[in-house]
Amino acid sequence: MNNCIFCKIIDGDIPAEKIYEDDHVLAFLDIHPVNPGHTLIIPKNKNSQNIFDIELPDWEHMSRATHMLAGAITKALNADGINLRMNNREHAGQVVYHPHIHLIPRFKGDGLIDWKGNSYKEGEAQEVLSKIKNELKYV
Ligand code: 5GP
Repeated sequence: MNNCIFCKIIDGDIPAEKIYEDDHVLAFLDIHPVNPGHTLIIPKNKNSQNIFDIELPDWEHMSRATHMLAGAITKALNADGINLRMNNREHAGQVVYHPHIHLIPRFKGDGLIDWKGNSYKEGEAQEVLSKIKNELKYV
């Protein structure tokens, strides 16, 4: 965790195209953009890996920056929309183990393929709902 690539960007040890920075978060262009303007927002704290262990104040700072940057990126690039995405753990596509939100501007006809919706089997939705509700900590 301490040697992660994003920690090096925070420390200025490797370069990045920085868009926004404050005491808590840093936003910079993804080095392999899905579309031009593809941006990553990260917390400056280096004590977490993903959504499962990030502290709530860091998450709130990321959320605030995401809200601001989503509008700015979309307007600046005349995008038709924007995707917010966060990969958490290996099988959800996480490669860099420092929390990060992807902001991906979208353009009409850009051809990016999104996931396809499925259907629930009889009773499956209620079963899933019940399992999730049992785990909720804040209700
Ligand atoms: P993940 O799959 O972990 O959600 O995404 C990691 C992202 O970090 C990828 O989209 C990748 O292109 C980006 N990335 C990896 N290394 C660097 C780097 O050194 N600089 C920048 N700007 N982006 C990086």
